[in-house]
Amino acid sequence: MNNLRQVMAEDGDTRSRLDHVVRLIASTMVADVCSIYLREPEGSLLLIATEGLKPEAVNKTRMASSEGLVGFVARTAEPIAITDAPRHPSFSYRPETGEDPFHAFLGVPILRTGGVTGVLVVQNKTERTYRDEEVDTLQTISMVLAEIVHTLVLAPAPQNAPERRVRGPGGGNLSGRVFCEGLGYGRAVLHDPVVPAAKFFASDVSAEAERLNAGLIGLRASIDRMMLIDGAALVGDPRDVMEAYRLLAEDPSWAEKLHEGIRSGLSAEASLDRARREHRARLQNARDPYLRERLHDLEDLDNRLLRVLGGEEGKPKVTGEQGVLVARRLGPAELLEYANVGLRGILMEEAAASSHAAIVARALGIPAIGGIENLTTRIEQGDYIIVDAEEGSVHIRPDDAVYDAYKSRVALRSERQAGYAALKGLPAKTLDGTTVSLMLNAGLALDLDMLDQAGADGVGLFRTEFQFLVSETLPRLEDQIALYKRVLDRAAGRPVVFRTLDLGGDKVLPALNLQREENPALGWRSIRFALDHKGLFRRQLRALVRAAGERPLTVMFPMVTVPSEFRDAKALLMEELAWSATRTGKQPSKLEVGVMLETPALGFSMQDLAGEVDFLSVGTNDLLQFFFAADRMTPSVSERYDLVDPAALRFLKMVAETCKAGKVRLSVCGEATASPPVALCFAALGYTSLSMAASAIGPVKQALRKVDLGAFRAGLFERMDKPNGSFRNQVLALAAEHGIDTADS
Ligand code: PEP
Ligand code: MG
Repeated sequence: MNNLRQVMAEDGDTRSRLDHVVRLIASTMVADVCSIYLREPEGSLLLIATEGLKPEAVNKTRMASSEGLVGFVARTAEPIAITDAPRHPSFSYRPETGEDPFHAFLGVPILRTGGVTGVLVVQNKTERTYRDEEVDTLQTISMVLAEIVHTLVLAPAPQNAPERRVRGPGGGNLSGRVFCEGLGYGRAVLHDPVVPAAKFFASDVSAEAERLNAGLIGLRASIDRMMLIDGAALVGDPRDVMEAYRLLAEDPSWAEKLHEGIRSGLSAEASLDRARREHRARLQNARDPYLRERLHDLEDLDNRLLRVLGGEEGKPKVTGEQGVLVARRLGPAELLEYANVGLRGILMEEAAASSHAAIVARALGIPAIGGIENLTTRIEQGDYIIVDAEEGSVHIRPDDAVYDAYKSRVALRSERQAGYAALKGLPAKTLDGTTVSLMLNAGLALDLDMLDQAGADGVGLFRTEFQFLVSETLPRLEDQIALYKRVLDRAAGRPVVFRTLDLGGDKVLPALNLQREENPALGWRSIRFALDHKGLFRRQLRALVRAAGERPLTVMFPMVTVPSEFRDAKALLMEELAWSATRTGKQPSKLEVGVMLETPALGFSMQDLAGEVDFLSVGTNDLLQFFFAADRMTPSVSERYDLVDPAALRFLKMVAETCKAGKVRLSVCGEATASPPVALCFAALGYTSLSMAASAIGPVKQALRKVDLGAFRAGLFERMDKPNGSFRNQVLALAAEHGIDTADS
């Protein structure tokens, strides 16, 4: 390892260093041959250095990925040791290499984060069995080699070329689900720790072993602490998972493997990195879900220990250059740590758009894509990346053509944004004089920055459960009061609709220890859950009342299905008001209480609530899933049905008429209104307060200001009476008749 370190530190070009390395390995391992094969982008393996085979074969002998023992090692990412190679069924004879006299064969993969980057082989004339230690040594060497070999994969930087090209050949595309819309370009910052090549070696083996032991103790203690904090809340499955995790951390064979690396001259970090590469490579090949989960756990442990060893240093850094964060999984708090570093994009393997990290990404307004398979194995630290969170695609090391296309998309987008910005101070008033309130959907104090930026009229939906979802423990009364006060302060007199706790379903709090349900969306969630947890619910209502003080207060209850749920919730709110009034002498100057329309059943009961409820707000996300019986979390059905549909619009028209008769104000707060044609339909039906993400306010306002709503309504109703073909297309055509550009709808 010492000699190798010297060679690595040598000046000179990569190829001469590789020649030196193969000579060195052949002599120390007493092998007749040592060769390095490079995996080319299309998967073939090219001989790039050899000691012992014919030198003429270098850069000529090429094996297909399915060919020979070398191809076998590359495919399986596992070492292979064979006493008599020519007799092996995978053996492929290449006369130009002059390998006839060699029998024994030992091949190991050269692994990087991105998978197999080459194969390192030693061969001997005599039929011999390689010992386990020899296999291990060769694996360690191959890890050190990985960095040099990889530089050969990268094309040399052309003179005066734009900097993005220095990373060499394009890395292809990946796709996923858009979590936060936008476009971004920057260099990959891997969330998982990276071990720099300079830290591969340790000169003092015993000191390094001690460092590793101290790290292992620290790691185990941190897992114990985690179990202790969450322990009370953990029963059943989650506890089993944590126990399995603890057992893995205490597994002597894992520790032994790490020590082995150190004994061979590696640093503790490099030894861990080696283990992590092996776990990843195995994960790429593993199909069995149980095995995959365990390998994920092991990789998590590797990362955790790397962080423990690195301390502050182990944390990923986003430097001057604009970064694109690349993570397998990301906790909301972890993402918040990157809030002020100017990230250009966020990419995650995790798939749920409602995941907490996705929520935070939206609050930060950073283009984000999730559910990207193989993300962390395809992207390297520092890779140039285009994040197309309009289409949901990722371009790795884009070539000029892709980059230019991206640039023109950015220009178009900023042109559109400039158009929207010009409308900021203007009302969303239709040509025939109807003014629609355009409100903001928010969930974190961070979101409130958008109020002024987007020119919103207020907050139409404040998702109070986010505070619960992003914190490790249940927020205390004071924490809740502080947040609600901050929100009211920032809104500076503009209305804020506080939606009471909407937990359950996909919004699971580990601390609440809920039972696993067959159909969580139809389960013990939202107002059902709140009414059954009166202590928790009352504390929230108290916080709302106290935060408002003598300011106006607007409260809305989610997922109400039958009138009694609304009445019970409102009664609790009134009790809190009375209690607070006697204790503090303060009362909100005005109180409004609303209900969300998320289940079809409530739509048929609105006449019963006349006089009791001030407003109704359609939660299109949940309403659509229940109306069409299509789970919003299942990608294959979540976008199958369209709200621009005669059945849905007739239902919403009926509800609007009932509410008008009962003097209940109409509003909408689901994501669907972000699309201008949908917003126009709602406005035409009489829903004149629409709440949406900040980015949608500009386009919706632009459409509303262009429309003669009366004429649009007449056209819409005519088509609803006699639908013909795709209803969305009919509505888009109608909008186009009104001069509204629906190209992106
Ligand atoms: C909805 O269901 O439309 C809604 C606004 O609530 P959430 O998305 O938070 O369930
Ligand atoms: Mg909902």
